[in-house]
Amino acid sequence: MNIFNTPSVLQNFIWQNRMFYIKRDDLLHPFINGNKARKFKGLLELDIKEKILVSYGGNQSNAMLTLSYIARLKNYEFIYVTPPLPEVLKQLPQGNFALALANGVKFEFYKPSDKRSDVDVLRNRAIEISNSYNGFFIPQGGACELSKIGIKDLALELTKDAKNLKNPAFFYVSGSGTSVGYLCNFLPSIFTIAAAGDRKYLQKLFQDMKISQPPTILELNTKIPFGKPDFRLLKIYQEWLELGVEFDLIYDCLGLLSIRENLNYFDGRDIVFIHSGGLSGNITQIQRYKNKKLIP
Ligand SMILES: *Cc1c(COP(=O)(O)O)cnc(C)c1O
Repeated sequence: MNIFNTPSVLQNFIWQNRMFYIKRDDLLHPFINGNKARKFKGLLELDIKEKILVSYGGNQSNAMLTLSYIARLKNYEFIYVTPPLPEVLKQLPQGNFALALANGVKFEFYKPSDKRSDVDVLRNRAIEISNSYNGFFIPQGGACELSKIGIKDLALELTKDAKNLKNPAFFYVSGSGTSVGYLCNFLPSIFTIAAAGDRKYLQKLFQDMKISQPPTILELNTKIPFGKPDFRLLKIYQEWLELGVEFDLIYDCLGLLSIRENLNYFDGRDIVFIHSGGLSGNITQIQRYKNKKLIP
């Protein structure tokens, strides 16, 4: 099943007095786009005999939302393991959670009760459920081999896109780091930042993945904890909105900030920024900015 408007377009914009080439993966499909579209392309192409997907993670996850669309499209059941909801979300479903709910996701709310990290406990619970239902297990965020297929497509498109650019530097933001790890197999000169986790985590991941040309990992002057509202991100969000492109506040705005603070890395090079999608998450994130009075 190929539902994507591929190849996605490369558009250029001037920001910070620099030309930015934006790979518009946000335009791949109205509902399945950005990073998770690339990573789950392999899943879309597969026909799963089990007809049941099982995964786990946070209650506003982009992976959860994308998997819920794919499950609906392909008539699969989708069981998603997540910690018990906060009261507000229970009362009034919002954002990615509300969309996933409408797509028919079966939520399994699971409260970790032992000392291991929450994520490991959720993961084990999801594997348990997957085994008992004979389901198809997908690790958090789609961090598995299956995602290589779509990332390879992305790399091939970018190679064509950048044919006439000057010593192109490719930027793709990292959460789990899986996407950038795979991208490095197919494309040189990649830059990234750890949106979740940190540089050490990414370095170890890329070592474990045995990547011969690891990416350059940028850092911020002062670190922003994952998902935390910050006026610097908001400013970047607004500047790009004026240029006509919406970026997600958690990943890509952070990526753009890291480029702005490290522009010297890109002297004499054309910057290609891969839009990672995730825009449906902005609704709840903007609400958090309002709660913190960062947006009137
Ligand atoms: C998942 C996601 C990422 C990170 O991808 P990884 O492969 O986990 O590093 C980046 N941006 C958005 C919008 C995402 O949803």
